Amino acid sequence: MIVEIISVGTEILLGNIVNTNAAYLSEKCAGIGLSCYYQDVVGDNEERLTNVIRTALQRADVLLLSGGLGPTQDDLTKEVAAKVLGRNLYLHESSKEAIDSFFKSRGIEITENNWKQAMMPEGCIVVDNPNGTAPGVIIEDKGKHIVLMPGPPNELVPMFESAIMPYLNALEPGIIYSQTVKICGVGESKAESMVEDMIAAQSNPTIATYAKTGEVHLRVTARAEDEKEAKKLVKPVVKELKGRFGNNVYTTQEDVTLERAVVDLLLANNLTVSTVESCTGGMLAARLINVPGVSEVFKTGYITYSNKSKRKILGIKKSTLEKHGAVSPEIAKEMAKGASLFAKADVTVGITGVAGPDGGSEEKPVGLVYIACSVCGRVNVRECHFSGSRMKIRESSVSAALSLMRESILAYFSEVTFGAKKS
Ligand code: ATP
Ligand code: MG
Repeated sequence: MIVEIISVGTEILLGNIVNTNAAYLSEKCAGIGLSCYYQDVVGDNEERLTNVIRTALQRADVLLLSGGLGPTQDDLTKEVAAKVLGRNLYLHESSKEAIDSFFKSRGIEITENNWKQAMMPEGCIVVDNPNGTAPGVIIEDKGKHIVLMPGPPNELVPMFESAIMPYLNALEPGIIYSQTVKICGVGESKAESMVEDMIAAQSNPTIATYAKTGEVHLRVTARAEDEKEAKKLVKPVVKELKGRFGNNVYTTQEDVTLERAVVDLLLANNLTVSTVESCTGGMLAARLINVPGVSEVFKTGYITYSNKSKRKILGIKKSTLEKHGAVSPEIAKEMAKGASLFAKADVTVGITGVAGPDGGSEEKPVGLVYIACSVCGRVNVRECHFSGSRMKIRESSVSAALSLMRESILAYFSEVTFGAKKS
């Protein structure tokens, strides 16, 4: 089944609000195996909204509209949808009562225009809105399903989850099952190009890609008669993805985060860890410490922001700092080495970079970050170039550090196992 998401509101067109409803709805639809080919944004304008609805009816089975259900004159989604479908509006008594009690319970006086929200298209399904005054509306018309939802996300999300999603699920027989292949160390566009052919050929299961900071998630969703059948459809696709991304797949489990995967790897190999951070200011330590059970492996987290503290805490020589500068592969390496020396951990990580917005130079621009990871004395250094705000650069650095830790531990053990370089 094909859905089309229509976001109504001039504010969205003007850029005054970010269209989070569309992002939310498309993610949810992908999650239940519905395909979305078009999303529209249209202002509060009768003629243009009419055109958008008419066009969407020609190319989708389900129309998900959000916004414009309020009491004011410019809220016209319900009126326009009813007109396009040739339905009259009537006063829906229980909606009138619900609006009445919503206002009474908050001690607010009802204004006349609020009753507009109790007017419903003939023959529709009225959907409760416990968080606001505009009920949702479902109209079934010649095999199509037109769903109207309020714009405020705190009203739309609970309504979608409690009523609309079950309704959509029931339209198609069977159940849906999905599994996520989580990947690190491969950029978003590279990952997408690696599965382009699979996405182009998909029908059931579908593959949806989600880019996270420093990670890509590929969600494989199948619809089938029962769970066993759905799992059978998902399995070969997940296997193919694992084959294509190899060691970059860090988990296929829903509740495993990248930091969890790193901590699990440390636990499994009996390795302790310490971190030394400059531009990330403790964010790597914080992410690792998010993981319950990390106390078994985490020893010390240093924040050595100034050069002085790099010298004092890690014993980095003044001459090394002067020669290479604080943001350099050499210093990242020294930071990781210093941690193994002073915190006596098996795995140590050093992060140094230019988080901006100031402080960049031609040679060392904003976003340049060096990360070093030492595993039992063997050090890997990575040069990264990130973009975005200061916070974004810092978050990207932390994800890249977790990726590098994972890679370095895996590489160390594969070489140790094969007898190449045991220290
Ligand atoms: P109201 O009763 O508040 O008027 P409504 O259903 O008429 O609700 P709109 O008037 O279109 O909805 O939008 C109300 C508010 O909901 C907006 O100011 C905005 O904060 C939020 N909103 C609307 N559409 C979206 C959207 N697509 N994404 C995120 N937020 C939205
Ligand atoms: Mg409104």
